[in-house]
Amino acid sequence: MVDATTEYLIIGAGVIGLATARRLAMTGAQVVLIDSNPGFGMETSSRNSEVIHAGIYYTEGSHKARLCVKGAKMMYDYCATRGVTTHRYGKLIVATNDEQAAGLEDLLVIGQANHVPDLDLIGVKTLRKMEPELNAIAAIHSPITGVVDSHNYMAALEADAENHGAIIAYQSRFVRAEKTPDGFKVWIDSQGEGMVFAARVLINAAGHGASSVSLAIDAVDHSTVPPHYMAKGQYFTTTRKPPFQHLIYPMPSGGGLGIHLTLDSGNSARFGPDIVWVDAPSYDVNPADAEKFHHSISQYWPDLQPQDLVPAWAGLRPKIWPDGKTFQDFVFHYAADHQCDGLVALYGMDSPGLTSSLAIAEDIVDQLAA
Ligand SMILES: Cc1cc2nc3c(=O)[nH]c(=O)nc-3n(C[C@H](O)[C@H](O)[C@H](O)COP(=O)(O)OP(=O)(O)OC[C@H]3O[C@@H](n4cnc5c(N)ncnc54)[C@H](O)[C@@H]3O)c2cc1C
Repeated sequence: MVDATTEYLIIGAGVIGLATARRLAMTGAQVVLIDSNPGFGMETSSRNSEVIHAGIYYTEGSHKARLCVKGAKMMYDYCATRGVTTHRYGKLIVATNDEQAAGLEDLLVIGQANHVPDLDLIGVKTLRKMEPELNAIAAIHSPITGVVDSHNYMAALEADAENHGAIIAYQSRFVRAEKTPDGFKVWIDSQGEGMVFAARVLINAAGHGASSVSLAIDAVDHSTVPPHYMAKGQYFTTTRKPPFQHLIYPMPSGGGLGIHLTLDSGNSARFGPDIVWVDAPSYDVNPADAEKFHHSISQYWPDLQPQDLVPAWAGLRPKIWPDGKTFQDFVFHYAADHQCDGLVALYGMDSPGLTSSLAIAEDIVDQLAA
């Protein structure tokens, strides 16, 4: 006995599940999107820097490089048509010593190989004019990098999906699934009540829950499911008005982009994220880490004082490697990968997953139609 049937059942209403639900619903398909939380994007998708990345850092030919470059353009276009605020502040990746300046050239080569538009290496004279208070001897300028109002972006995706007939059910937790000749039988806990769905295709966009969701599907080859690790990223803010017009990034280090300064829609500064590997989910910010943040930020903003920093919020990066040194690409598993027809599973969807979301959704829908 099943309570309801659908063609596509998407698990996880983060930014990627929402974008995929929208894209599929726009093809006229029957779509149900479930999330265990009471609303959309309450985990990683609402705990990030909201930066529309240009695609500079990622290994050439990787999913991240391709989907970020494509996704950034799609996001600017989409937000413009849907009235979602974006600010194309532009970004400076700064070098404060000769060794870092040499690293900038390597980074520029990677960015250009990824076809990031309009990148430029700029020297100290131009920098002084662009950002008089910035301490740096050289920088990469990426004019298309910006920020997005991620809440309103997700609200627009949700509205589009629903307007095209998708059904979105919150407080509905995927419990397990069994393979059937036509697809899957799926057990869902909906506010304490058990429901059974029949779905032709399952899309596992469960973020931190992705590995455990796949392991609860009987036909999945469990040896193909990657382990799950978490790398917390803490943020601090400041009550001081930042003297910068651009997003300021140090050279990337330790598996992160370095403690950078981004501006929100109201031109207020926020700093972070750092990287702290954790065994259990935790969104606490350690006030004592202000010292570490100050040390890093004062390299490029010398006038900032430790007491100017205020602990703010944290996010958790979903990781499939237990260290930050290996480049970790997005992982998409289709039937050939996990031996389970009709299942798409997404793992390790850390940054730049927000920027790439529309391109990821397009890719999944194209792959399923192929
Ligand atoms: C600190 C930090 C900074 C970042 N900065 C940026 C940035 O500036 N730019 C950028 O492009 N990207 C950034 N990212 C990455 C971006 O936030 C993520 O790639 C993106 O939010 C991932 O979206 P998602 O939909 O995969 O995951 P999530 O938002 O985590 O959504 C997964 C959903 O699945 C649901 N779920 C899990 N298990 C179940 C279950 N059993 N049943 C039902 N529902 C379930 C959860 O409730 C959750 O809502 C950052 C990430 C972090 C952590």
